[in-house]
Amino acid sequence: GQRVVLITGCSSGIGLAIAVMLARDEMKRYYGKSRSINRSTHSSSKFLLKYFEAAGDAYGKTLSLLTLDVCSDESVKQCVDSIKDRHIDILINNAGVGLVGPVEALSLDEMKQVFETNFYGVVRMIKEVMPDMKSRRSGHIIVISSVLGLHGVAFNDVYSASKFATEGLCEGLAIQLMNFNVNVSMIEPGPVNTEFEMKLMTEVSKKEFVGADPETLDHFRTCYLPTQVNLFQGLGQTPEDIARCTKKVIESPQPPFRNLTNPLYTPIVALKYADETGSLSVHTFYHMLYNLGGVMHVTVRIMKFLSFGWLRRRDNEKLIL
Ligand code: NAD
Repeated sequence: GQRVVLITGCSSGIGLAIAVMLARDEMKRYYGKSRSINRSTHSSSKFLLKYFEAAGDAYGKTLSLLTLDVCSDESVKQCVDSIKDRHIDILINNAGVGLVGPVEALSLDEMKQVFETNFYGVVRMIKEVMPDMKSRRSGHIIVISSVLGLHGVAFNDVYSASKFATEGLCEGLAIQLMNFNVNVSMIEPGPVNTEFEMKLMTEVSKKEFVGADPETLDHFRTCYLPTQVNLFQGLGQTPEDIARCTKKVIESPQPPFRNLTNPLYTPIVALKYADETGSLSVHTFYHMLYNLGGVMHVTVRIMKFLSFGWLRRRDNEKLIL
């Protein structure tokens, strides 16, 4: 039969791509419920238009919209209550926000907002949906995490911490839920070309980052920001790439807990396991940012070269060079 999928944060980017891909499944195996925060009527109708266009005739048949703010206990409860029998087979936690800049120049309120969405938002959804999954002894909880949930990146410290927190939460749950036949999977994309990065860059251009010393600000503006732009251009994936990977995980008979979507990140992530002191990964990231940042094509080449060896050992992955 059809499986009910609830996806958070679907007005754009990865969430929208997943909703559309599942709703258009040729075998009609999914019934998608998805929505993000309440918007003004104007932007709401623009958003609906995007859905109609993207989902085509699937809209209203295998896809419908609900209102949801993952930062509100009430909204989360209302959303889940509005679903028939509160029955959700697959919960996809995708809603998320970013934050970049030197830590000393960011306010605690800004940081708390990131955790409120990226971490407590996931906690709220899971608390509302998991008990029913446990009692039915079936279900799949998915989180759109990030490679930044696996390693830290300079000037992305708080965002990375929020994804680490979510990874920790879910690793514990994955173990506990095995007894209840409920799966937990993290999807860990590298850079993805969505509004996410654009929103961050617009915010950065407006901020003065008061509290950071000139040297740090110079590193942020002349090393970090250009490297970031190059990374997105050099190895950014599309939201559809992430949707395809997520669909594969949903359809797998034994879904893995961790799922990198970009094979180029496999060696980088492996550095942490290769040297348990952390020196190897910290030094590698240092060089990538401060010594190779300006020659990004070299870094991309190195990442491709390293991944190639790894991927030759894994027959089911293809590397696009
Ligand atoms: P996006 O900004 O296009 O999408 C984020 C969505 O979350 C938006 O639709 C937004 O409305 C929604 N949202 C934000 N706060 C919400 C709230 N309180 N309640 C409900 N919805 C809310 O960006 P995206 O790139 O599609 O991001 C989706 C997820 O992917 C995020 O969790 C992000 O951390 C993760 N991710 C993104 C990238 C990237 O490079 N873009 C890389 C790795 C992971």
